[in-house]
Amino acid sequence: MTTHTLVQPGPALNGIMASFVSRVFYPLLLAVTLALYFGALEHGWNLATVFAWMAGTRMLLLLAVEFLYPAKPEWKMTWPSFRRDLKYMAVNGGIAGLLKLGLGWLALDMSRLNTGIVAGTSIFVEFVALLLVFEFFQYWYHRLSHEGSGRWGAWLWSVHVPHHLPNKVYLLMHAVGHPLNFLVSLATVQLPLVVLGARPESIFLFNALMGLQGLLSQYNVDIKAGPLNYLLVGTELHRFHHSADIHEAKNYGVLTPFWDLVFGTFEYHTRRMPAALGVSEPLQYPDSNDLVKVLALPFKRLGK
Ligand SMILES: [Zn+2]
Repeated sequence: MTTHTLVQPGPALNGIMASFVSRVFYPLLLAVTLALYFGALEHGWNLATVFAWMAGTRMLLLLAVEFLYPAKPEWKMTWPSFRRDLKYMAVNGGIAGLLKLGLGWLALDMSRLNTGIVAGTSIFVEFVALLLVFEFFQYWYHRLSHEGSGRWGAWLWSVHVPHHLPNKVYLLMHAVGHPLNFLVSLATVQLPLVVLGARPESIFLFNALMGLQGLLSQYNVDIKAGPLNYLLVGTELHRFHHSADIHEAKNYGVLTPFWDLVFGTFEYHTRRMPAALGVSEPLQYPDSNDLVKVLALPFKRLGK
């Protein structure tokens, strides 16, 4: 018997797993998030505790799946790119992550005193209102960071561009970015939650979905979300945002593409991924590995 006749179940099983990961993994994660939400409401679980456990477990699971089923091997995290990510985590990723978790928890905790935006409205109405208000501010901050003109436009871009310098996008490269950008995005995420006086139930759902979508948006796994792409911003849409071709580097929303659809910046292609990721003219900028030069960007005059 030659080796050619031996049964090799590896590739077939791999194929089934790859299509499961591509088609089922994401809806399943969404379903578990929602199930935890409704379970917590139903059984009166402590929302802040459920939130912390969910965030931790989800991160580990996503890392394992990304390692096993990369969308493109050349976009995989490598030791040098991980070492670069660690530098950014040390500067702001870890702090921002903790702050985000802390603020998310604080917003949840403080919200026990809130009575809701409009007394008597359903949680669903409150959640949608919260989401659209947050996304509106986030959308314009993000869009102006990319498309703004004049001195302010150039400055916003210099704060935001560090996040776009890497030429591969995967889970942990989320940490790459300027601390100023993190601070502004943190403020835009959590402040509306507190200021608008949302109830803990909507804050929990908002943070849980935001955590999931935020992680999946920088994910090197070939997630196919189908019609869900018109409702939530995930892997397929946000990967185009990181395209090196500025004509398709749109999709400024983070949780829902609602304002992208309204203002004409929605970019979705079912059959292809961006050819290259990063900035269109990388030589104009420091290497993302050069932390000191990257952090100095907002303090210099810079063109696009
Ligand atoms: Zn951007």
